[in-house]
Amino acid sequence: MTARTNEAREPAENPLTSALAQLEAAAERLQLDEGMRDILRQAKRELTVHFPVRMDDGSIRVFTGYRVQHNEARGPVKGGLRYSPNVSLDEMRALAMWMTWKCAVVGLPYGGAKGGVTVAPRELSDGELERLTRRFASEIDILIGPAKDVPAPDVGTDERIMAWIMDTHSAHHGHSVPAVVTGKPVAIGGSLGRAGATGCGVAYATRAACERYGVPLEGASIAVQGFGKVGRVVAERLDRAGAKVVALSDSSGGIYDEAGLRDIGAIVAAKNEGASLRDAGPGKHISNEELLELPVDILVPAALEGQICDDNARSVRAKIVVEGANGPTTNEADHILAERGIQIVPDIVANAGGVIVSYFEWVQDLQSFFWEEEEIDQRLERLMARTFAAVAARQDEEGGTMREAAYTLAVERVVEATRLRGIFP
Ligand code: NAD
Repeated sequence: MTARTNEAREPAENPLTSALAQLEAAAERLQLDEGMRDILRQAKRELTVHFPVRMDDGSIRVFTGYRVQHNEARGPVKGGLRYSPNVSLDEMRALAMWMTWKCAVVGLPYGGAKGGVTVAPRELSDGELERLTRRFASEIDILIGPAKDVPAPDVGTDERIMAWIMDTHSAHHGHSVPAVVTGKPVAIGGSLGRAGATGCGVAYATRAACERYGVPLEGASIAVQGFGKVGRVVAERLDRAGAKVVALSDSSGGIYDEAGLRDIGAIVAAKNEGASLRDAGPGKHISNEELLELPVDILVPAALEGQICDDNARSVRAKIVVEGANGPTTNEADHILAERGIQIVPDIVANAGGVIVSYFEWVQDLQSFFWEEEEIDQRLERLMARTFAAVAARQDEEGGTMREAAYTLAVERVVEATRLRGIFP
């Protein structure tokens, strides 16, 4: 095992390096010409804003935020807003590009975007967080809108923040515009099932991967890194499906019990009350790095990008990695895991449940007609199953890894849309 820290590692590689290498490999497989590659490498629009916020003590702090729109060949752009000290323009560029591929591989009529503010949200009071959010929403208002660019929650943001953004945009435009963001509270146009959608989708992808690779989900040992909006739901769902969740972690570190952590529901409840995982849960204390190297059937990284990198990829002992987070495996680590016969369900397939139900929310808002939760769950399951099957079929046809198959399919669809639309003028 490598160095021990409680914190998950800072991304080992600039995520844009991984994103561009993945695109280049897909472009090579599809034999794209240089002009098309250049269109896909660059984000279409990038907005950087520096804006002041009045803090509770009367002082003024200037924050930096971004909104990057990677590609809109297939429709309006879609992607989360992240509040984290690591947020940078290159990180937003990578995450926006991954959203383009994710929407394309699922077949949603969207391009990709991402945005965020370089801030540690937990260090702000509620009032400071609201003022920061409303000012940031005003600064990016020139880009967002139901027909243009529709943000959603990501690391460090939640439905309350989406409500403030929706309200700020509505105030600027003089009428309520619920379809400007997804992941809102249900009372103001949010969708049933959106809060747990990404985690549910990851659980569906895990079940499909278990079937594909002959690992019975019942009794399978599972480690989940990250215990936020995604990780909590994954752990609960897989526990309910009969899997044995042996390890969990958040930014304070992890807990491990080889026999299976008992009562995941109680751990989630304690965490929801604000306890750290180590205080909330039973089991032996382990670091985030140790969690990644446990001898488990399934590892679900669900925190940040770059967690499995060339330093630790040789120590990963899981049979299957299901990527709940975006970009948790660097490009180099991806090759090492593939050589070692470890199967990876790539992020653009595994965590697509969030954008799928965001799409349902946007459709419901546009038609002001809301569906039952059961219908949303069924549609989510169907779309996840269809996406997994299409990618698996492509992998069976062409060989290579599941990530390569997913990228080939996604890039091919974006290229088709770009060619059909043509180059203006
Ligand atoms: P979140 O903010 O709700 O939770 C993040 C989790 O990661 C928390 O448990 C936190 O403690 C942990 N974490 C954050 N920074 C860390 C650090 N430096 N060290 C260790 N742990 C750290 O975020 P989320 O919405 O659950 O997102 C997690 C991942 O899933 C991200 O990669 C995100 O892009 C991806 N994702 C989220 C959604 C969604 O709908 N929320 C959809 C698709 C993909």
